[in-house]
Amino acid sequence: MSQIANRDFKLDAGRLVIVSNRLPISINQVDDGEWEISPSSGGLVTALTPVLRDSGGIWLGWPGKLDSGNLDELLAKGSKGTGYSLRSVILTEEDINLYYFGFSNEVLWPLFHDLQSRCNFNPSYWQSYQQVNSKFAEAILHNSNHDDYIWVQDYHLMLVAKSLLAMGEERSMGFFSHIPFPSPDIFNKLPWRLQILKALLDYDMIGFQTMRDRNNFVHCAEMLIKGVQADTRRQISTVSLQGHETKVGVFPISIDFHDFSVAAAETTVKNRASELSNALPNCKIILGVDRLDYSKGIPEKLHAFEYALKRYESLHGRVTLIQIIVPSRVDIPEYVNLKSEIEGLVSRINGKYAQAGWIPVNYMFRNLDRAELLAYYRAAHIALVTPLKDGMNLVAKEYCAANTDREGILILSEFAGAAAQLHRNALMVNPYDTEGVANTIYHAYQMPEKERQLRMKRLRGSIARRDIYWWVNLFLRTSETMEISDLSKSGLN
Ligand code: UDP
Repeated sequence: MSQIANRDFKLDAGRLVIVSNRLPISINQVDDGEWEISPSSGGLVTALTPVLRDSGGIWLGWPGKLDSGNLDELLAKGSKGTGYSLRSVILTEEDINLYYFGFSNEVLWPLFHDLQSRCNFNPSYWQSYQQVNSKFAEAILHNSNHDDYIWVQDYHLMLVAKSLLAMGEERSMGFFSHIPFPSPDIFNKLPWRLQILKALLDYDMIGFQTMRDRNNFVHCAEMLIKGVQADTRRQISTVSLQGHETKVGVFPISIDFHDFSVAAAETTVKNRASELSNALPNCKIILGVDRLDYSKGIPEKLHAFEYALKRYESLHGRVTLIQIIVPSRVDIPEYVNLKSEIEGLVSRINGKYAQAGWIPVNYMFRNLDRAELLAYYRAAHIALVTPLKDGMNLVAKEYCAANTDREGILILSEFAGAAAQLHRNALMVNPYDTEGVANTIYHAYQMPEKERQLRMKRLRGSIARRDIYWWVNLFLRTSETMEISDLSKSGLN
């Protein structure tokens, strides 16, 4: 299938330098007190690795907290394992509190997910955000040269190109926003809106997950910056300001489809999926897998499930919602409150509807290992993916990739980035519409096999064609050639 053909990208010249808030490693102390470094294994890392290795590339980021141990030695060891260089940007405790927990997670994250009432526009956060972005720019300066291509990842680092220019240095630089970009009405609330928009326009190329995000960005730039010229007639738009042109495109991120599909078909996973199904006889499994975050719409999902049980008695004893919540940001009071709210709702629904031999909601608050997660994906008749807003939502794609029997149904929020690609064959819902989601659950419960199979086959085909390798290649090829006509062949139209 095409995912194999997606893997052969090579940079024309120079090295690829990836810049992200965190390095793709974890550093842990083992039993004998020694420090050990292990590489992360997500789809993005896997897809970038061949291009990084091939170009003698570098990954630059914060290595995480390290109380003792020799960092340089550890990174040198880690670089041998990854096949490309790992370089660190050292952040202080104060940086982490103000730039990361503060500006990134209390300002940008809620605002860019349309939840402005949750923002804390603390000016000291902004100061720190600028300083840390300069630290990253300095690290780029010391670790790269003019031939290299610098690809900056995500909302933590929107000012890096600008900071580098302020140091009198230029590089070819691209930026990808993994999270949504808000509409002008919401973005305008940001006290530092102009500085951020102008800084983004110092990149040579900016990638967004969906056309909606791209259009929001262009509209914000047109509305807020005097003298900006935007041309949105083509697949890749251009936004020009004071003689500098920035390409702005849509590059929906994806997963390693082939890898997920093959791993899900393994006998151990298949057997474990059967065990899970057998543990819930006569019940169809509805699965939710979400990181603990208010953008994921978990309470809203539970309300909708409760409403479905109220309205459709025939679901009693026939469906179980398995809700897996991956712990996240548990030091922040808002996340602790969200957890309590979720646990209260689960307890209320179970208290009201459970019968001997049937519990409506199975709730887990923990990280699953990959094989276990795949077994849940395989065992689930329905995946209920209902974020209030999401950059992409990889769980939706992983569920389909693991669905090698093509039996499952994807219920998907229209506010997930994945909706742009999957809306034709998923069952689409507005996560705020309790009644609508409840009705869709019932509709999915009753869907005939033939329709299920057809929808899942098409979902899988679409994700296989545009996997994570396709995404990496498309972004880098576009940034390298900058030829708009090339993109008509990319499958993005
Ligand atoms: N995931 C995980 N541990 C688990 C369950 C899920 O690491 O116990 C992974 C899942 O495989 C997926 C990611 O968490 O790759 C969630 O990505 P998504 O885009 O859906 O949401 P995000 O958490 O990035 O907002």
